[in-house]
Amino acid sequence: MAVLINFKICDNSEDCNGIDVCPTGAFYWDKKKKTIAIDNSKCISCGKCEEACPVGAIRMAKNEREYKKIKKEIEKDPRKLSDLFIDRYGATPIHPAFLIPQNKFEVQIIRSTNPAVVELFNRESIECLLYSVPIKELFKDMDIRYRKIEVKDDSFLKKYKVKELPSLLFFKAGKLTGKIDGYFDIKQKKELKKKINKIISKFK
Ligand code: SF4
Repeated sequence: MAVLINFKICDNSEDCNGIDVCPTGAFYWDKKKKTIAIDNSKCISCGKCEEACPVGAIRMAKNEREYKKIKKEIEKDPRKLSDLFIDRYGATPIHPAFLIPQNKFEVQIIRSTNPAVVELFNRESIECLLYSVPIKELFKDMDIRYRKIEVKDDSFLKKYKVKELPSLLFFKAGKLTGKIDGYFDIKQKKELKKKINKIISKFK
């Protein structure tokens, strides 16, 4: 009858198994919106997509009653996408001590005279949460404050011309002195360190 997707636990990937197993093309990747999508008019309720999902994010309802029940269950599901990334991909849980709210950025970073590096991230992006180069360790012997900010709106990104998350913003006496955009995996540690040192040298 209808297929529902629980996006709270779905990594919404173009490589979703549901797309591969669907015999009618009802389950597809919407290129424009960059999301998996269902065309329920093509669905024959075979249940193959539901079986193929390893985390139970795809649910098939056989009738109207079941549809409403599943919809409610999804709405009430307390899980977050970041939980899924931690469980499935070994993402690093974010330590609350390093986290500052976006609205405290002005007070804690801009008005501070201490050098600081701020890692901007999005909790729904695997690149931001996946175990990458452990950023804070790169600063452990330096007199630099390290903080993380979860970016909630585009204005912040536009202000600092951030092209890609995660992004590292470097501040000295409240002024932006450097920026490194994008995800670096563990093999790129040296490359990242080099970029960081180049920016830090301007702090002296
Ligand atoms: S239930 Fe079958 S036909 Fe419907 S979307 Fe899933 S795989 Fe495709």
